[in-house]
Amino acid sequence: MPVVWSDRHRLHEPGGEIWVGVRTPGTELPERAERIRAELERRGARLVEAEPHPDEVLALHDPELIAYLASAWQAWDDAGLTTDPGQDRVVPYLFPHPGLVGDLEPGAPAAATARAGAFAYDTMTLIGPGTWEAARAAVDTAVTAADLVRAGERAAYALCRPPGHHATRTAFGGSCYLNNTATAAARLGRLADDVVAVIDIDAHHGNGTQSIFWESGQVLVGSVHVDPGAGWFPHFLGFADEAGAGGGEGANRNLPLAPGSGDGPWLDAVAELADWVGRRAGSVVVALGVDAAGVDPESPLEVSAEGYRAAGRALGALGLPTVFVQEGGYDLGTIGPLVAETLFGFEEAT
Ligand SMILES: [Zn+2]
Repeated sequence: MPVVWSDRHRLHEPGGEIWVGVRTPGTELPERAERIRAELERRGARLVEAEPHPDEVLALHDPELIAYLASAWQAWDDAGLTTDPGQDRVVPYLFPHPGLVGDLEPGAPAAATARAGAFAYDTMTLIGPGTWEAARAAVDTAVTAADLVRAGERAAYALCRPPGHHATRTAFGGSCYLNNTATAAARLGRLADDVVAVIDIDAHHGNGTQSIFWESGQVLVGSVHVDPGAGWFPHFLGFADEAGAGGGEGANRNLPLAPGSGDGPWLDAVAELADWVGRRAGSVVVALGVDAAGVDPESPLEVSAEGYRAAGRALGALGLPTVFVQEGGYDLGTIGPLVAETLFGFEEAT
């Protein structure tokens, strides 16, 4: 299948994460995408350059979030914060929490330091000079892959970086800025009357995608992930009783798994989601995180490379037009082979 790529992902150097107040090296590194590309090219993949698209492809996000992300770094730099106090990335310090503002509409903060907290929901997702351009290119990558499938490809893989499934309509976090997966789903559904399904197999709950389509009956959202109730990101969301609302009632499905589950329960959950969408959807977007793997530093799910290949086969057996969108996966030594196993498993089932 075609592999959609943009060199512009390299412009996003997160510069680490602020984790419990400490700056750590972080794991969402440019090298991740390079390793995946190298492995897929080694196995003969066909690379396609991401096409630029007008800003209408960002319509799933609130215009205020878009305007903020596009200007945040410059505003931070203009405010002198890179020299005093010497912070070279945009970092929030104050959040308009419901407990702070109550029923009042929060005012528009004038300070660049305060504006960050109006759009970021964590302190881990830093903005540097090239973050916006890279996040924007990741959306173009996802949309290009969706367009290839709409044009008749059986499947396409969007090698997106930064990832996107934690980005909501109005806020960013979890190393995500714009929701590539949700954008691909919207693009697939735009000209079709069919229901589109998202199957999120990243180790973490896709809270952003869930929230964006919470009231939509046109996009099914299913996610298998490590149980947030066991102490894992995103902690506050991703529980089994979150099923959508309004027109989307019953169109959201969460399958949280206990830490250490391994291949058996994980593949059962993937099969359950595949069966669920196979009976209701006309096309699929797979949010492909490979951080459920046993070697990954970000999750304890202990899935094997053979497990990823089997998941690919289960998704391929659906026989539906499919867009793969890269999400997490942080072990540089195995991220490429794990992605390749999934895609090859898919192809051997079709
Ligand atoms: Zn993840």
